[in-house]
Amino acid sequence: MNNTIERVEFWNIGAHVLFYVLAIVSVLIFLFGLLRIVRIWRSSWGERRAKRFPKFAPRALADVLLGRRIYRRDVFGGLAHFFIMWGFGFLFLGTAAETINDHFVWFLSGATWFVFSFILDVAGAFFIVGTLMAAFRRYVLKKHNIHSSMIEDPGVLILLFGIGLTGYFTEGLRLAAMGLVGKEWAPIGDAVAGLFSGSPAGAQAAHPYLWWVHIAFALGFIAYIPYSKLFHMFAAPANLYLGQVPAGALTVEERENLKGGHDFSQMVSFDACTRCNRCEFVCPSYAAQEPLSPREMVLAFKRHYRRAFAIERIWRPWKRVDASDAAKRAEKAAAFEEAVARDEPWYCTTCNACVDVCPVRVSPLDIAREARTSFVNRGKGVPKATRDLLQTLGKYNNPWEPGGARHFAWQKELEVKNLALGDEAEWCYFVGCLASDDGDNQAVAKALTGVMSAAGVDYGILGKEELCCGDMARRLGEDGLFEIIVEQNYGLFRDFNVSKLITSSPHCYHTMAKDYPALKPKLLAEGREVKDTPDLTVVHHSVLLYDLLKTGKLTFANSLEKTVAYHDPCYLGRHNGIYDQPRAVLRSIPGVKLVELGRCRENSFCCGGGGGRMWLESDSDVRIAALRAKEVVEANVDLLVTACPYCLSTMVDAIKVLGAGETVAVKDIAQVVADAMNKEEKA
Ligand code: SF4
Ligand code: SF4
Repeated sequence: MNNTIERVEFWNIGAHVLFYVLAIVSVLIFLFGLLRIVRIWRSSWGERRAKRFPKFAPRALADVLLGRRIYRRDVFGGLAHFFIMWGFGFLFLGTAAETINDHFVWFLSGATWFVFSFILDVAGAFFIVGTLMAAFRRYVLKKHNIHSSMIEDPGVLILLFGIGLTGYFTEGLRLAAMGLVGKEWAPIGDAVAGLFSGSPAGAQAAHPYLWWVHIAFALGFIAYIPYSKLFHMFAAPANLYLGQVPAGALTVEERENLKGGHDFSQMVSFDACTRCNRCEFVCPSYAAQEPLSPREMVLAFKRHYRRAFAIERIWRPWKRVDASDAAKRAEKAAAFEEAVARDEPWYCTTCNACVDVCPVRVSPLDIAREARTSFVNRGKGVPKATRDLLQTLGKYNNPWEPGGARHFAWQKELEVKNLALGDEAEWCYFVGCLASDDGDNQAVAKALTGVMSAAGVDYGILGKEELCCGDMARRLGEDGLFEIIVEQNYGLFRDFNVSKLITSSPHCYHTMAKDYPALKPKLLAEGREVKDTPDLTVVHHSVLLYDLLKTGKLTFANSLEKTVAYHDPCYLGRHNGIYDQPRAVLRSIPGVKLVELGRCRENSFCCGGGGGRMWLESDSDVRIAALRAKEVVEANVDLLVTACPYCLSTMVDAIKVLGAGETVAVKDIAQVVADAMNKEEKA
């Protein structure tokens, strides 16, 4: 029995110099890769860098330390990551402490050494269990339909497992050979030592070989970090902070000043991606067998930037980026988009499912939108239907009418104030393009105005003066047109004394409540026509109905006696967190039995109409709306209720196509409330 109760440096190991040489080589390979990535990031350091740090830092810190986002919809994966991350963290800190002990301050002895050994022994167990769970999840459970690469995904797992396993066996051989006092403080190492207890001499002979294997795994791991998804250990925390800063709308001028390619936070997000496949699993476009995988899109951009830099800067990663570098990179980015990412971005419905589910806050949605902007700005690669739509929108201020005249005849049937004709009211009901033109949605507008009038809401409309809110221009990447629409609408609101808006479209709601205020200060700074315009209060009609309910202004005369499901529109739910108010309104209606669809709330499945998709022809035989309609029919409901004009149009059609038009009705929440309030009509 050896009475040493302290760490013994390089016990039984010769060739210390070789170890230091290999360690230096490994660190140099790591630093080289790190510098290359930092150069790629730095080249885009600009508009959206670490602003508003205090506000976003605590949440980012909690996300990193607790891995909160990883558990969502995958507790097993979250636990695996937790074990690996914290096991690795303690082992890393332990190795750093041993280095300090061996070379600078000797402190690992006596009771400190025992406790230290115990902590590292347990951390190692966490690390190995987490790695095995991750392998089980990837190759047996195949969670989120994950598909693995041939080298990188198994390579990372083998490295992690190899480090943990050889660590224990090295320790076990050492303990078996030395018979140290206090070895019970390393219980797992001690258990492994038990395997070799019959031959201490053999254990001593085998120990150096295994030690070198362990070192090879550890140094290989360090060197591999910046060349693999392991780099997410640095990029993910950065992105968990940056990803909280709203993407906002870059103005055309700001975009021209970008140093090329993508903005800083998107560049970081490419490296934060862990290839976990959650985004692809929830993507409606991928589910409909269209040529868009958010995961592949992110990885394609990452590969592109790595390659672009690999060629021109591989031997000089420390060189500063100058204007000519940035211009060259912008050119390469454009060529890449045209060659590789030409179709994918146009299939995105901007449903936000991928953003919501991503454990590290990557936004394939923003990446797709930026690519669209890039195509629009270059005048290349824009699908014809989208091009026509944008031209119509620019020319006639709405997406439907090449002739310029909108269908306002139906509005004449309404007895509502017209703010553009001098009437005054507290609220302006912003009717929106679909409700102005499409029959099903005109019925929604009529129902809503009826409910508002009955509930005593003081409102008016803008009639023929109303313009498109610009949602389609923004989502389709036509930022110049969007800026013009924003200017025009602010001017209109100023001229007709409008500052409080009710919308029946979540798309109008999101655009005017989120995009307008983000853009306005920038436009002001650029001297654009938004001076002295009102700050807007925007309310979606589902929230207005909820407020009316709470204040006792909705009185129901009918009992509807229906089994009802509510379909969460993406721009109301995932984009704006409005889930409870519409449900509360529906539950309050007599006779309504509200049930949930299999995918609901944050996990709701898109109808396929957003992000300009209403105007894009898909080559796939599968329709996104048909996938959702199938879920609705399988839920056995009498009535599907939604709160979005796109959802209404797509779901009405899709349910008819499935042959369920007679059994499942589709209505907007305003229509259902109107039916319950109105003595003559029933849903
Ligand atoms: S973008 Fe996010 S959700 Fe998608 S594969 Fe990467 S880490 Fe996973
Ligand atoms: S926003 Fe929706 S449609 Fe677009 S990539 Fe993400 S999940 Fe797919």
